[in-house]
Amino acid sequence: MALRRGDAASALGFMLFHQDRPKSSKMALCRDCAAGSSMDLATLTFSACAAVPPAQTTAQVASTGEKHWSYEGKTGPAYWHTLDPAYARAKDGKAQSPIDIDTAGLSVDSTVGKPVITYSKTLFVVKNNGHTIEATPVTTGNTLVLDGETYVLQQFHFHAPSEHLIDGEPFAMELHLVHKSAAGHLAVIGIMITEGAENETLKELFENLSSAAAREGAAQHETQINLAELFTGSGEAYRYDGSLTTPPCTEGVKWTIHTQPLTMARSQIDAFRAFYDGNNRPVQNREGRAIYLVQ
Ligand SMILES: [Zn+2]
Repeated sequence: MALRRGDAASALGFMLFHQDRPKSSKMALCRDCAAGSSMDLATLTFSACAAVPPAQTTAQVASTGEKHWSYEGKTGPAYWHTLDPAYARAKDGKAQSPIDIDTAGLSVDSTVGKPVITYSKTLFVVKNNGHTIEATPVTTGNTLVLDGETYVLQQFHFHAPSEHLIDGEPFAMELHLVHKSAAGHLAVIGIMITEGAENETLKELFENLSSAAAREGAAQHETQINLAELFTGSGEAYRYDGSLTTPPCTEGVKWTIHTQPLTMARSQIDAFRAFYDGNNRPVQNREGRAIYLVQ
């Protein structure tokens, strides 16, 4: 684990994001997939939405290698299934994510409940994994209970624009909080982000994107965040069964998408988009899946 907590904070300090930094997402070589060298298993474990169990990830890397993928061209979403047999679900899956949430066709089932979230102020290590900006907690203290199963927060990260659509409409960004249970099951909470008031909870993270997003030297940033502050509303949400939105697009992921978006200042959204503008997989066929409204 190349966390290097102490020296990251002292060496990088509180560098402010520079608005004139060139956009790098189109050119970025993803560190996860860097051809054959300096593969960082710690990064792989928590890569974007691909929060597969560590043991499985290690085995997968050992047997197949992690193939480079991106959001455009011949390594973009339309080609993910061609890059590695392990990515076959990207094409032949029947429960893929993201989807367009049609609010005119929602199901209600009293046995399908909301996640019960227990988050607290936690130290996160923020880094650019080549596909997104990702924050990994240093403890296992942030949990959710869903359908009687307990999941532990593994990481959170962002997409711009949003991956899910609501009635065909995208949002400026989407936050994904990725959780895993002891049995290896995955549950992701998605929260849409619109332009508005500055987000105080994520303020320091976005102010320090320049250090976290630096490509060289595994630069990263540490910050204390209480994610519970993001959950002040009713918790009304859409739930459906889907997949990881990044290769290998594994299915069996329990998705909860909040109906109420968060706000971020234009400067915060621009700070992220300076690094990743277009790291969203297009919506997938719903394949007749039910979408539940939970209140
Ligand atoms: Zn994601």
